[in-house]
Amino acid sequence: MPMHAALRDVLVGANPGQASLSALACNPAQTRGRRFAEPPAPTRNAFQRDRDRIVHSTAFRRLVYKTQVFLNHEGDLFRTRLTHSLEVAQLGRSIARALGLNEDLVEAVALAHDLGHTPFGHAGQDALNECMAEHGGFEHNLQSLRVVDKLEERYPAFDGLNLCFETREGVLKHCSRTNAEHLELTEPGGVGRRFIDRTQPSLEAQLCNLADAIAYNAHDIDDGVRSGLISIEQLLQVELFAHYHQQTLAEHPGLAEKPRRVLYETIRRMLSDQVYDVIDTTRQAVEQAGVASLEEARLAGPLVAFSPGMKARSSELKRFLFAQLYRHPQVMHTTGQAQQAVRELFAAYIAKPAEMSADFAANADLHRSVADYIAGMTDRFALREHERLTGRKLL
Ligand code: MG
Repeated sequence: MPMHAALRDVLVGANPGQASLSALACNPAQTRGRRFAEPPAPTRNAFQRDRDRIVHSTAFRRLVYKTQVFLNHEGDLFRTRLTHSLEVAQLGRSIARALGLNEDLVEAVALAHDLGHTPFGHAGQDALNECMAEHGGFEHNLQSLRVVDKLEERYPAFDGLNLCFETREGVLKHCSRTNAEHLELTEPGGVGRRFIDRTQPSLEAQLCNLADAIAYNAHDIDDGVRSGLISIEQLLQVELFAHYHQQTLAEHPGLAEKPRRVLYETIRRMLSDQVYDVIDTTRQAVEQAGVASLEEARLAGPLVAFSPGMKARSSELKRFLFAQLYRHPQVMHTTGQAQQAVRELFAAYIAKPAEMSADFAANADLHRSVADYIAGMTDRFALREHERLTGRKLL
């Protein structure tokens, strides 16, 4: 594989923190603002303040007990939504620094991007979406926005965290046209607009999407091998993995008896390769597009991206993990039980709203309120509630 220009910069001593794209970065002094006007903070810029609000939120603390792939009680060393979000923030900030994008905004978006996830990972989200099919559906990106806009109750004068437009835009990374039109009704020209106009979000938001994928592809290899559900031998079918695994063993033949160290070194090299690839590809894409401002960047196609070769290698890894890990019979078994838990909880609260905490029970839109209540639960709270309400123990 060719040496990346970004890596070459580091090796020849060029400043790896050079702010090459800073004209395209979001500037906290020029934020499109908050939904409710607030005086600026004396010591922090607007995006730093958003990040701090997210870190102090209830939803953020709950991420520690929410499933990423493996259920929270399956082992202490597996990623949870919290550690996943921290890894996305780390990768995102590294890339942002090299590209001259706004690190604080990237960190805020990365830490908030999964706040709307249900307990039990995608299994929980699918089950909740089914339960809500006749009532507007359930979608975790939209729910993340709902958490920061409405469900957090921490301020006297408004619901939610009252984050800046740029942070909220990054949190809403996908949105259907129907949902975007809904958002337009309450917030004309707001965060739903780009899904109607088909324009791009800020480069910081684009970066967080990619950092998310880089993070989970890497950590799911680690967790997958740790769990015993996938093996190194299987992973050697995947080009991106096999290349660095062989390279590591060739450079460190003494490590042949220490497969875990070889695995970590392989993952580290894969991560670096992808990070440098994004930095180089993005610099080139910006140059080729000839964009000179954030406004122009929003009208160009996606600019923060993998090179075609890396995109193909990353997609191959993603397909491998999907087939061999996410669809592993053992994972599917817990998925089925998790979905049953969510469906039965949903039915139980619809039948007896008073079983929810008072704020949720009092809400006029009962179905949405039940969805919000369940979505906010940690895995273990959901299982305790399920047992309390049905008398049966799952998982
Ligand atoms: Mg994520």
